[in-house]
Amino acid sequence: MAETTGRETDLAGISARDVLEAAPDALVVVNDAGVIVQLNAPTEQLFGYERGELLGRPIETLVPLRYRAAHGVQRAAYHQDLRRRPMGASPELFGLRKDGTEFPVEISLSPLATKGGPLVIAAIRDISARKRDEAERHHLLRERLLSAEISRLARKDALTGLPNRTLLHDRLSGAIRSAHRHGHELAVLFLDVDRFKDVNDSLGHAVGDRLLESVATRLTACVSDTDTVSRQGGDEFVILLSEVRDRADVRGAAAKIIAAVTSPHRVGTRQLHVTASIGIAIYPGDGGDSETLIKNADIAMYYAKDHGRDNFQFFTEDMNARIVERHALEGSLRRALDRREFVLYYQPQIDLETGVMTGAEALLRWRRPDRGLMPPGMFVPVAEDSGLIVPIGQWVLGEACRQAREWQDAGLEPVPVAVNICAIEFRSNGFLDGVRRILADTGLDPRLLELELTESVLMESVGASAGVLRELKAMGLRLAVDDFGTGYSSLSYLTQFPIDALKVDQSFVREISSEGEGSPIITAVISMGRSLNHRVIAEGVETQAQLAFLQAQHCEEGQGFHFSRPLDADRFAALLAPAGA
Ligand code: C2E
Ligand code: MG
Ligand code: MG
Repeated sequence: MAETTGRETDLAGISARDVLEAAPDALVVVNDAGVIVQLNAPTEQLFGYERGELLGRPIETLVPLRYRAAHGVQRAAYHQDLRRRPMGASPELFGLRKDGTEFPVEISLSPLATKGGPLVIAAIRDISARKRDEAERHHLLRERLLSAEISRLARKDALTGLPNRTLLHDRLSGAIRSAHRHGHELAVLFLDVDRFKDVNDSLGHAVGDRLLESVATRLTACVSDTDTVSRQGGDEFVILLSEVRDRADVRGAAAKIIAAVTSPHRVGTRQLHVTASIGIAIYPGDGGDSETLIKNADIAMYYAKDHGRDNFQFFTEDMNARIVERHALEGSLRRALDRREFVLYYQPQIDLETGVMTGAEALLRWRRPDRGLMPPGMFVPVAEDSGLIVPIGQWVLGEACRQAREWQDAGLEPVPVAVNICAIEFRSNGFLDGVRRILADTGLDPRLLELELTESVLMESVGASAGVLRELKAMGLRLAVDDFGTGYSSLSYLTQFPIDALKVDQSFVREISSEGEGSPIITAVISMGRSLNHRVIAEGVETQAQLAFLQAQHCEEGQGFHFSRPLDADRFAALLAPAGA
């Protein structure tokens, strides 16, 4: 078998070696026993062997171990088949270098009949580069397909199927170019569903989602095919009116949209009533690009919210100034705690039958240097948005408890104090611990502390709320539902909570006429509270007629200017009788 090894094979006067060396590929000549009888320089380079190391060695030397058996069988079959298949390309294989590394190769085999017997010339080509290219192309193609799919998905809002902000951006940019070319205007309407959070919190996310779908359908029906209704996320929608003639046009569209959103939505067996606030920015006056237009429409939307919701506002430059003002307010609010600028006022709650004070509600005031006393309505929303309400709320709780204890220590009649807790505080980490710590620090009897929570706080994730409420109750605190009648709470939920009092919202009390005619709602709320065994406290009692009506309805307690305005701690203390008197 080693006989032919290293011998030059004669090819019509040209040395076979010459032919081999002229080829660009690695060429290996193998006899029918599979032994290498000739090879060229590219083979040495490719496999990293010296020529002498390969001559006389089996061809399998150049094949990775795991392919050797298969290779041997193939080679034998090839030799048998030689006459019927004189030439051919083998499947792609792997080559094995001297240093043990593998690389993909393509081998073409050609038979060569010689005096010494049949030989095979194997042309071996390193295809690593091609393989890499192919893999890369494959990868690129996959990436392209994937990103096309992602962007298709990423352009539609999953819940409503409306275009999302990405697609809106594209459409708006296109509409701006077209408006610019043709010299017309376009309008961007930023719409936010009013108090959507209340619906979500009190009726659950599933109902909230159905409501958003219904709103989306209404919005789409309001505009023409060339306009775009998109969902920004949450309860925010942006509507692009791609061509408008004048403001009256836009005003008409906005009014139509608000009317459409405001008519009742049927969700399952429920009828839901919501309103919407809209801010409007017009191209080119209010912005030359999509970001600016959307941002300014958003600012105008906030302005609409500030103006009682359920309305639309066109953007104006001075709205930006208001935003700046709001930022400044947040900044001062941040410093107000350290600077001890907050104070609590106390408003008595009165037993309507006996006229005796039953408790006091602590109401927050911000005493700003040079600006006087600021009511909570002017800064609590900013404190809520910025999260500052959590530390501020802790201060209120601590201060109210400290004050109640101080009055008691001064020998005054113990008076229960009620403290308002907003949703963000109630849900904040460590709320329960905070209450516990404050009670421990001040030594106030927990029965003298009442927490006022709104309906939406209670209804939100009923299970979790119920747990916290039960803990508070177990600590001995009293719990009241504030602004009762304005939310969406269902009676069946209310019965699940360990509540002591319902505070009827002032809006119902206000409806009691000077002739003493009340709305049926207030009558219903009072009798409901009684049937649930809760104290019922009417808020905002301002007149004798209101008082008379409430007394006739057997409402237990009242609070309002008719009895007393909220007072600072000193003036309030003057209302308290000495203990045991
Ligand atoms: P609320 O808890 O419903 O408080 C009752 C509000 O009605 C108080 O307004 C009170 O001054 C006002 N009021 C009382 N009697 C009458 C009346 O006869 N007529 C009229 N028109 N109003 C009356 P205030 O102090 O401006 O507080 C407004 C809201 O701010 C409170 O509503 C409460 O939701 C919130 N708030 C007040 N203090 C705090 C606090 O410490 N923390 C939190 N999170 N919110 C607070
Ligand atoms: Mg209150
Ligand atoms: Mg209230």
